[in-house]
Amino acid sequence: MSPLPPSPGAVAIFGGTFNPIHFGHLRSALELLESLSLAQLRFMPAGEPPHRDAPQVSAQHRAAMVELAIAGEPRFVCDTRELHRQGPSYTVDSLLELRAELGEQQGLCLVMGCDALLGLPGWHRWDELLDFAHLVIMARPGWNLPSEGALAGLLRDHAGSIEDLSQQAAGRVITQTLRPQDISATNIRGLLQLGLSARYLLPESVLAYIAERGLYAKQE
Ligand code: ATP
Repeated sequence: MSPLPPSPGAVAIFGGTFNPIHFGHLRSALELLESLSLAQLRFMPAGEPPHRDAPQVSAQHRAAMVELAIAGEPRFVCDTRELHRQGPSYTVDSLLELRAELGEQQGLCLVMGCDALLGLPGWHRWDELLDFAHLVIMARPGWNLPSEGALAGLLRDHAGSIEDLSQQAAGRVITQTLRPQDISATNIRGLLQLGLSARYLLPESVLAYIAERGLYAKQE
């Protein structure tokens, strides 16, 4: 794992299936890096996602595509810890490990889109996540923040500021409105399965990787 750059900023973890990674992920991550003055942003591909059907493309391929996509941006790192863990990959376990590695003082943020936030109450030990990290919620086209229920309460009770992310280790929630990128991996897989081009929705290097291996192609 790349060492942390000598920056007082927080470290952010951007989890997902990245099946495949696309410009919606990448542009959002870059904007967060800059608007939150992060020291580092780590893409953390899920090994065996507990909340959805297993992706038809292996975790190794998904991580390799993340590596290709982030090449050349030293503040981006691919954290493959969930690929090496047996059984379902629970975010809380990864945050526990990261907290042990980074120390008790380091600001640590878990980044998620609004869509992922809505599923949070189904996550393993979800009510403990804020013990280990802050939550950074990205607005996403077509998705609204919850206005009532447990999640709305969480957003309200833990609301923090950008400064909190580096001054405190964990426990705050902030929402960020980024440049909307109406791109999804589902949409990209759909195009490729129809034999259509997904160009300009994701990096050329990732597209070339997909084409060379015939990933997402329609199965005969
Ligand atoms: P799928 O279509 O397969 O569900 P996805 O494009 O939503 O995939 P994921 O890997 O599931 O990508 O998403 C990882 C994280 O990235 C989630 O928190 C999700 O909200 C966020 N995300 C995905 N696409 C975008 C986008 N276009 N803009 C901002 N955030 C995004």
